[in-house]
Amino acid sequence: MARYIGAMCKLCRREAQKLFLKGERCYSSKCAITRRNSLPGQHGKGRKKQSEYGLQLREKQKARRFYGILESQFSKYFDMAERKQGITGENFLRLLESRLDNVVYRAGFAFSRKEARQLVRHGHFTVNGNKANIPSILLKCGDVVAVKPKSAENAKMKILLDKKRLVTVPQWISVDEMKATVLTLPNREDIDLEVSEHLIVELYSK
Ligand code: SF4
Repeated sequence: MARYIGAMCKLCRREAQKLFLKGERCYSSKCAITRRNSLPGQHGKGRKKQSEYGLQLREKQKARRFYGILESQFSKYFDMAERKQGITGENFLRLLESRLDNVVYRAGFAFSRKEARQLVRHGHFTVNGNKANIPSILLKCGDVVAVKPKSAENAKMKILLDKKRLVTVPQWISVDEMKATVLTLPNREDIDLEVSEHLIVELYSK
């Protein structure tokens, strides 16, 4: 599948916000947003006034980049959110949060969503005891994500599990050593992405 392979920090600078795309570096003083929070490019310092469409587009891109999802899949999640009862913007973010790769990251088993996605693809996790190597699996309340016993012996996984967890585990996930349980799906206030989701809803509703 096509993936963005350019500079990650450039994406954060474009959105003027930390998107936590590079793992440990994001939590250090080396973070580009901490050191130089200006738009990328020669004319990055002069910020232009944005149109309504421009604002909506930026909020959409920010959320899409935060979760590392391609446009086609991202808009499918929006369609799913629209069909659900409740506030579309919140449903949308809840769906994105309930992806397996996001839960692996939120539970502290990886330092970034990109790393979580790779670990899932390589088959290091199970969901409710079953093999799960698709990062986009949507989890429900009560689902248990576990590191495979064999994978816990893998050198890379050992480093990840032994390292002090930099990610704060949210209240809607409970972590017990190698297992993470989804206690409930997150409310808006549990999601730490600073985004105006209503602008994304407006953009997709055009
Ligand atoms: Fe780079 Fe991470 Fe900082 Fe973003 S949050 S600018 S990816 S180091």
